[in-house]
Amino acid sequence: MKTIEIRNGEKKIYDICLDNSYGHLREKLEELGVSGRKVCIVTDSQVAPLYLKEIANMCCGLASKVTHFVFEAGEASKNLTVIEKIYEKLIIEKFDRKDYIIALGGGVTGDMAGYAAATYLRGIDFIQLPTTLLSQVDSSIGGKTGVDFQQYKNMVGAFHQPALVYMNLNTLKTLDDRQVCAGMAEVIKHGLIKNRDYYEWIKAHAAMILERDYDTLEHMIYESCLIKGGVVERDPKEQGERALLNFGHTVGHSVEKLKDFEWLHGECVSLGMVAAAAISMHKGLISQEVCQNIKEALKAFHLPIRVDGLNPEDILAATKSDKKMDGGKVKFILLESPGNAFIDREVADNEILEGIGACL
Ligand code: NAD
Repeated sequence: MKTIEIRNGEKKIYDICLDNSYGHLREKLEELGVSGRKVCIVTDSQVAPLYLKEIANMCCGLASKVTHFVFEAGEASKNLTVIEKIYEKLIIEKFDRKDYIIALGGGVTGDMAGYAAATYLRGIDFIQLPTTLLSQVDSSIGGKTGVDFQQYKNMVGAFHQPALVYMNLNTLKTLDDRQVCAGMAEVIKHGLIKNRDYYEWIKAHAAMILERDYDTLEHMIYESCLIKGGVVERDPKEQGERALLNFGHTVGHSVEKLKDFEWLHGECVSLGMVAAAAISMHKGLISQEVCQNIKEALKAFHLPIRVDGLNPEDILAATKSDKKMDGGKVKFILLESPGNAFIDREVADNEILEGIGACL
């Protein structure tokens, strides 16, 4: 098992554990003090038949009560109505402040279970057991929790750090190819914003990654967790550097909304990165070759670099209503070079339209 500690100065906040099974989970739960506490495992309808029993059995004999809440898989469930149902479950089962929620699943489960944990009784502890590539490399780390509200993506939420992130990398074996590729968008993002060598390594290992070679995946997920973990450790509440993780998400979120969530989050981030790279090129920061290289990297993982049927003005309007606005200006993450991103608050509408034009 490999472990990364997320710290706040001297104090450890939580461990991120990468394992090839759930073999060490029970001892980690004991270390946390789950013994004698109640546990509610929140998961979705697709993950429940695969892993719920194993996790519930592991908690039995340790926790004083083990219960679960299963919701319909998919982004459409990430809303306040489902959160209310989780509260109801916790109230009926008499959960108190010292009890635990375990999020077992992808980013939708983690965001939602985390938000329920952040708000129930003003905050109870929660544990992330991420089972998609996207959630293992990105969403389970850093304590951003929340739900979509009406057509607005992640509009309601809270920062609430997990007590533990524990991933069994072999859960990726049951994930379909499209979901693995969507997760690769966030992996490529990590290389592009922070580490050029890692970006080059990802491109060079595309075949091994797509074959899901265990050692290659383990190395990649570890590197991505180090990057994401490092950023959120230095800037837990997105006062500065953490915004870099939004590379590709500004236009990406707009496409996600306008496509009515038919496209996966990672697929929309892929398009958003094409747009952000094009804006960086129009500002004279990166060359056309670098832009092309980024598109090739995304294509290697079957990620979309174009979208049909959307109007550029609609994408622009949606981008300007996104919560990543800062003092009335869109906060864009651009590239100075692969491995080196920065926040730009001075991107004009015509430049955004140029970027959008690159993926239409
Ligand atoms: P998801 O949770 O919907 O999972 C994708 C699908 O895979 C679901 O149908 C799920 O049931 C299924 N699944 C999960 N694990 C499986 C497994 N091991 N085997 C078979 N099927 C499995 O989506 P996601 O891509 O994991 O996450 C996307 C969400 O994450 C979005 O809502 C996005 O906004 C959010 N997100 C949050 C953060 C953050 O920092 N909190 C960062 C990035 C993305």
